[in-house]
Amino acid sequence: MNDNIAGMDQYSTALERQKEYFRSGRTLPYDERKRNLLKLKTALKSHENEIIGALNADLGKSAFEAYTTEIGIVYEEINYLVKNLRRLMAKRREPSPITVFKATSYTISEPMGNTLILSPWNYPLQLTMVPLAGAIAGGNTAIVKPSRYSAATSALMKRIIGETFDPEYITAFEGGHETNTALLELKYDFVFFTGSPNVGRIVAEKCGSKLTPCTLELGGKSPVIIDGTVDMKLTSRRLAWGKLLNAGQTCVAPDYVLVKEGYQDRLIEELGKRFREMFGNDPMSSSEFPKIVNEKHFSRVNGLIAGSAVAIGGKSDSSTMKIEPTVLYPVKETDPVMQEEIFGPVLPIITYRTLDEAIDFIRMREKPLALYIFSKDKASIERVHSLVSFGGGCVNDTVIHLTNPRLPFGGVGNSGMGSYHGDESFRTFTHRKSVMKETILFDLPIRFAPFKDKIKLVRLLMK
Ligand code: NAD
Repeated sequence: MNDNIAGMDQYSTALERQKEYFRSGRTLPYDERKRNLLKLKTALKSHENEIIGALNADLGKSAFEAYTTEIGIVYEEINYLVKNLRRLMAKRREPSPITVFKATSYTISEPMGNTLILSPWNYPLQLTMVPLAGAIAGGNTAIVKPSRYSAATSALMKRIIGETFDPEYITAFEGGHETNTALLELKYDFVFFTGSPNVGRIVAEKCGSKLTPCTLELGGKSPVIIDGTVDMKLTSRRLAWGKLLNAGQTCVAPDYVLVKEGYQDRLIEELGKRFREMFGNDPMSSSEFPKIVNEKHFSRVNGLIAGSAVAIGGKSDSSTMKIEPTVLYPVKETDPVMQEEIFGPVLPIITYRTLDEAIDFIRMREKPLALYIFSKDKASIERVHSLVSFGGGCVNDTVIHLTNPRLPFGGVGNSGMGSYHGDESFRTFTHRKSVMKETILFDLPIRFAPFKDKIKLVRLLMK
């Protein structure tokens, strides 16, 4: 109880200081935002080896995976924002209607203000630092709360942020969900949350009760459709890559496959080959194959495997927390693995007879964060894209769409609301304020009473 009160005091004091800092206007100038973005990049660069070590301690990530899916992505985002900051910050002129002849209309992108960023453990660096870069570019202050599950990376990020920024501008708190709960009691101008739909609901309720705008980057079961027109070797390589990245603990990981009936055996055979090519005959002993984050998730994923027929893999090692790349087939809709987001190196395969059957299967469920279709048939791809709602995705690949900063990244419905990356990060962390500047040279008398028969003219102008 006393700890909670002490915590609350600490959080509200931090926020009050950030409010004062924001009111001082110091976050606003272009030069300041650019300098802080570059400061963040320099700080990360000088701690790069420590970051790689922390990601390895938390998730067993190889240096290659740590760089390509976390560190490098943050650098690219910062580079993009620095390069485009002037354009993004510029006042945007918009045309004005004839009814306000001689007026000028424009929008000003103002910072949201004091922001809170809550991030998960699976890409702990990327999913904290990319939103933070957006907050800086937008001219905001930020309180950052990374996940307790990725303890080493979270502690390191807190230290890096502490060494780099004045806490009145950006500060970080460590802790578990009780810290989130306490932080969410306070009134921010914007909350950016990444995590599961279940916790997203709690965050949305907290924000809703205060009318605090929020972005929710959530997850869910992202399907893959594979029809009979594909090159199975290429398909299986790209599918295995997306699934095994971070041992399947990726929000946009292919969750399950819907394959055209008759092609499942070939797919399973090719997947087996790709797993061996990538991680050898004993993937669990490969230093390049990541582990499951903790005991809770390790036993949860093993429980999902136990509920279906195993076609490839299926073994795990509790001493290393690794689970073999696993394919489940046949799988029924009612199997445990189809009831929740898998978040592990396990791929269930279900067959479909017609494309519309596959489309219906997906549409009967919550809107996914990602959808991947492998096909050479343009009409099939267009049919899926016109009928199925999803956050984003790829044609003939998996996961790679989120590396393009020009594509907004985010979910829809159960998989989230709002988006970010590149321009969209700036938009998310700002509000477009609309202004109309009127001429003072004359007044069009039409809008002022007495109206008499002015409606005739109005009808000509507004029809
Ligand atoms: P989570 O929702 O369990 O936790 C996210 C954060 O919320 C953590 O900091 C945690 O401490 C906190 N939290 C947990 N319970 C809470 C509560 N009751 N009240 C307030 N805060 C609480 O998610 P996770 O397990 O860390 O991450 C996995 C989930 O995140 C998956 O569903 C995944 O798809 C999703 N995810 C989405 C994205 C994306 O960009 N859309 C990226 C990564 C992960």
